[in-house]
Amino acid sequence: MSLSTSLPILGASSLGKASLGDTASQNQLLTTLPREIYARLLPKLETVSLVFKQVLYQPGELIQHVYFPLSGVVSLLTILADGTETEVGIVGNEGIAGISVFLGIDTTSVKALVQIPGDAMRMQTSDFKAELLDGALHNLLQRYTQTLIGQISQTVACNSHHSVEERCCRWLLMCHDRARSDHFPITQDFLSHMLGVRRASVTVVAGMLQKAGLISYSRGRMAIIDRPGLEEVSCECYESIKAEFDRVFGVTVVTTLEIASSGYEEKSL
Ligand SMILES: [Zn+2]
Repeated sequence: MSLSTSLPILGASSLGKASLGDTASQNQLLTTLPREIYARLLPKLETVSLVFKQVLYQPGELIQHVYFPLSGVVSLLTILADGTETEVGIVGNEGIAGISVFLGIDTTSVKALVQIPGDAMRMQTSDFKAELLDGALHNLLQRYTQTLIGQISQTVACNSHHSVEERCCRWLLMCHDRARSDHFPITQDFLSHMLGVRRASVTVVAGMLQKAGLISYSRGRMAIIDRPGLEEVSCECYESIKAEFDRVFGVTVVTTLEIASSGYEEKSL
């Protein structure tokens, strides 16, 4: 990922209304916006904690807020009739939870669950919808939607064709990118849901990765020990998802109309 920003970095050191110039975490979508648009959004953004296992959305429920994670990971889960939950995508500080509002739907078909705790900036859905008239934000969210579709598509292929070990490494790398920490809580039961496999399979794979010195796992805590090693064991899907993100955000396509309506200055992200 090669997102860069000319904006002050946002922080989540204290919860409450966000302010320009905070200095810790950041959401890459927000910080990629033109400075004046970002500044205009700030009064409508509230910094909140993302609590482990917190449910942000249930399928069919009205979305009250959209979330721009600063750290942590939100899982997007599809739920079958028998209650089985399977992860179909994740959202971290590269994205937004609640993208269906951008697509014109105030409800979601998936469950959004905080899988790795962190912080986020959230905005009321009504405020967010009003801001969508802005060309630069609209363009940015269009591109993000494309990357999310890419991630979900790749995950489908990955789950069908790659080994549990490869998928587990891909998943750990994606979470590591977004967690902003080498340590995060995760249970094997939870991980089995994330990967759509039996818990016994996860236990075997986690043991193998730990024995190889790539991770440390104990009492529900995951530690990434050897990231390059994980990248070697992972299937191609981690790099493919990352490459799609870079491809979409590395090419700026802004129409003249959008520039005129928003004051958006064309730039490579
Ligand atoms: Zn794969």
